[in-house]
Amino acid sequence: MVKSGFVGFVFVVTVLGALAAQDQHSVGKSNQVVLKYLGTAGWEITDGTTVILIDPYLSRINGPAPPGGGSGHSIAGDTRRAYGWNDVASPDAAAIDSHIQRADFILVTHTHYDHVLDVPHIARKTGATVIGTESTENVMRAYGVPGEQLITVRGGEDYEFGSFSLKVIPSIHSPLDHKHYFSSASAPVGMKAPLTLEQIHPEGGTLAYLIRFHGHQILAFGGMNYIEREIVGLEPDVALIGAGVSRKEIYDYSGRLMRDLHYPALVLPTHWDNFLAPYGASQQPALEALQSFVQEIVAASPKTKVIVPKYFEAIPLETAAK
Ligand SMILES: [Zn+2]
Ligand SMILES: [Zn+2]
Repeated sequence: MVKSGFVGFVFVVTVLGALAAQDQHSVGKSNQVVLKYLGTAGWEITDGTTVILIDPYLSRINGPAPPGGGSGHSIAGDTRRAYGWNDVASPDAAAIDSHIQRADFILVTHTHYDHVLDVPHIARKTGATVIGTESTENVMRAYGVPGEQLITVRGGEDYEFGSFSLKVIPSIHSPLDHKHYFSSASAPVGMKAPLTLEQIHPEGGTLAYLIRFHGHQILAFGGMNYIEREIVGLEPDVALIGAGVSRKEIYDYSGRLMRDLHYPALVLPTHWDNFLAPYGASQQPALEALQSFVQEIVAASPKTKVIVPKYFEAIPLETAAK
């Protein structure tokens, strides 16, 4: 009796010791938060343990352009198949698989194809939890993503996930087509894959996300607009800000953002590239247009650092956030 009790004690101590060592190891390596730009409005944010994706879109199909030009137009000499609204486009599995091995969470800002086309494939491949609007979740269900992988939000939620927390922020879409773009359409319940591009393009409302992760607060927008009252008082140290040309339709876009967000230490422009061009194509015109955004941010917030991200290049955050 006494002997077996002692053996049990030794076993428990050994196992707990091993668990503690393992825990220390994973905590040690997981304090460093690293961001990677996937193109369009897509990002990977990870601490080496938890992988969070935002609007991951790697297929970059030669699809229909957004109304009024937006941040996508077909490039000259593109020999890839051109897709129309009534076509079904399959995700580029090779592109996705070469850059995305795993994911725990996928945050979707809205249901436009340049934000959501690849998400069912990535969710099924990785088992990641998809967080998005009802419209997003209906697209996921159409492609057979299991209900336990879906968390439907409307904006206003503030959820705890253990390694990070997530505030879901009501937002609005980029003012495309010189402010004439408007959509209250939502992807309906009960759709069945495969869906045409038109079927996965009802906006379904737009969200932004504030991710609190290892002392950082990372605010992510999926386009060029925001609801000012929803962001006043947030103090992110990192802001992923829509930098496409349609922002110029908005009154004092960068100035109000910087003041409202209390001058974040780091701004990363997002949704500024031409997403109808493949990864290898030149983004020189988009990069040149981006210079005016960088100047706006620097003028409004001289101490803010702006990094123009390169596709798939790691951007490590300083471990001591403010
Ligand atoms: Zn959109
Ligand atoms: Zn978009």
